[in-house]
Amino acid sequence: MKALRALPSVDQFLLSEPGRALIAQHGRTEVLAALRARLDETRRAIRAGEAGDGLAAGLAGQVAADLAARAHSRLRPILNLTGTVLHTNLGRAILAEAAIEAATAAMAAPLALEFDLESGGRGQRDDHLRGLLCELTGAEDATIVNNNAAAVLIALNTLGAGREAIVSRGELIEIGGAFRMPDIMTRAGVRLVEVGTTNRTHPHDYEAALGPDTGLILKVHTSNYRIEGFTAEVPAPRLAAIARSAGVPLLNDLGSGSLADLSAFGLRREPTVAEAVAEGAELVSFSGDKLLGGPQAGFLVGRRDLIAAINRNPLKRAVRLDKIRIAALEATLRLYRDPDRLAERLPTLRLLARQQAEIAAQAARLAPEVHRRLAPFSFAAEPCACASQIGSGALPVDTIPSAGLRLTGHGGNAPDRIAAWLRALPRPIVGHIRDGALILDMRCLERDADLLDALPAP
Ligand SMILES: *Cc1c(COP(=O)(O)O)cnc(C)c1O
Repeated sequence: MKALRALPSVDQFLLSEPGRALIAQHGRTEVLAALRARLDETRRAIRAGEAGDGLAAGLAGQVAADLAARAHSRLRPILNLTGTVLHTNLGRAILAEAAIEAATAAMAAPLALEFDLESGGRGQRDDHLRGLLCELTGAEDATIVNNNAAAVLIALNTLGAGREAIVSRGELIEIGGAFRMPDIMTRAGVRLVEVGTTNRTHPHDYEAALGPDTGLILKVHTSNYRIEGFTAEVPAPRLAAIARSAGVPLLNDLGSGSLADLSAFGLRREPTVAEAVAEGAELVSFSGDKLLGGPQAGFLVGRRDLIAAINRNPLKRAVRLDKIRIAALEATLRLYRDPDRLAERLPTLRLLARQQAEIAAQAARLAPEVHRRLAPFSFAAEPCACASQIGSGALPVDTIPSAGLRLTGHGGNAPDRIAAWLRALPRPIVGHIRDGALILDMRCLERDADLLDALPAP
C-alpha cells in the first residue's frame, strides 16, 4: 500500500531533524518506544481505511505530543481554589519558606541526623525536635512518627496491647480512608470498651468501666463532625482526674491540635496542644500537616516514662520520620518561637487569616481579565461571595467568609465541563461546584499572576 510506504522507517525518523530534537529532549529509549507505538497505531489506522498521507505527515507531531504527555507529572503543582485551606486530597499544608529551605538542604547534603556533633558519638533523630516540642507544649517529653494515625496506633499498642482501652461512644470516629478508631484499636491489639451513648457520656460511665484489665482511657477530638443538642461529654481535666485516681494513663488524640491560639487570627478557638497537656492528659497526639502547617508527621507529647516506652516499641522504627521531614519540621516549629510574625511566615495561618474584604477586592480585580480569557471557550466569570473552610477536620462546621469568582456556561452540565477544562490545564485549577456554577475561592491565591498564568493567554 502506498500510504504504508510513505511512513518513515524507525531509523529514518530517528535521524531526521524532528527525531534528533526529540532524542535531545527525552532520550533515545523514550523516543524509540513512543515512535514504535505510534507507527503501529498509524499502520493499523491506514489498513482500516483512514487517509494515509495526513497520518504520515502528522507522525512527528503525534510522537512529540505522546512524549510530552508522558513527561507531564501528575504531581505537578496545581492551584487550590477549593476554599479548603488544608485539603487532604491536595496535600494539606503548604510549607513555610524556612521549611522548604531546610528540607532542600537536607536533601542535598549529609547532616547530623543521628550523630552528636559535640561528642562525635551516636545521637537520636528525634532529639532535633524534642526540645522544641517540649518548649512549645509544656510537655515533659515528645516523640515523632510518620503521621497522627501512626501516633495513635503506636501509643495504643504500647499502653494497651492485650488490655482494654475505654472510649466514649460519641468519639469512635472515622476520619476518612481507612482510619476508623475501632479498627485501629483492633490492629493495635487493644480491646475496645465503649462507654456512654452517642450523644451523652458521663464521668460514672468511665468509672464503671475501669478494671484490672484497663490499659488506658482514650479521648478523641471529634474532628470532622459535631454532635449538637442534648449532649454531654466529660471534659478532659475531669477525665484526667478519673484516669489518675485509677492509675491508668489518659491519651488525648487532638487530631489537628494547634500550637497557636487561633482566636488571635480571627478564627474560633481550637484547643491548643499546650492546653491539652495542662489539662492533665499523660499523652497528647496531633498532626504535623494540619493546623500546625508543616509536613506530614505525627507527634506524641507527654509523660517521660510513657514516651520512653513508646520509643522502645519496635513499631517505632517502622513509623519513624526521614531526614527531609525532620529538617522541615524543625524549621516550622522554630517559627512558633516568634508568635508576632507567625501569621506572616506560616502559609497555613497566613491564608486562614486573610480578610474577606481583601479577598473580595482581589476577586473584583481579577474578574474582568478572567472573563476575557474564558470567553473564547463560552464560559463567563463574575465576582461572588463564598465561604472557606479550614479542612482536615479542624472546626468542621465553621466556615470563614471569603470571596471568589463564579464561573458559568451554557447547559446543565456546564459546571462539570468547566471543572474538567480547568483540571486539564498545564497547571490545573481546582474549584468547587455550588448552585449551578463553578466557584473559585480566592483565599488560597496569594498572587494574582498565578491564576492568570495558569489560564490560556488571550
Ligand atoms: C486527622 C486525625 C487523625 C489522623 O491524623 P493524620 O495526621 O492524618 O494521620 C487522627 N485523629 C484525629 C482526631 C484526627 O483529626
